[in-house]
Amino acid sequence: MSIVVKHIFKRYTNGMGIFEALPLMAEVKKSAHNKNHSLENFTVESQVKFSSKCKICKKTVTIDLEAKLPVSGEVLIATCEKPERKKKIQISS
Ligand SMILES: [Zn+2]
Repeated sequence: MSIVVKHIFKRYTNGMGIFEALPLMAEVKKSAHNKNHSLENFTVESQVKFSSKCKICKKTVTIDLEAKLPVSGEVLIATCEKPERKKKIQISS
């Protein structure tokens, strides 16, 4: 977990709802961008839960304001990598 996320964790555990989540989403986008991800817009799953995923590598991130860790997801841990396409190997004799 990054320092930024820990900071957010402390600031936002007291409030709930989309208005509390908005700055969190902005921070998540920034953190994800630092790892070269390109996040889709957040999907609202409930009043306290929001999710998004990277357009390139399909890694996900979830904001759950009621969870002990409001922000979790691979995009904050791993650097973006395009899924490798398997190369066809041609064997010629
Ligand atoms: Zn990515």
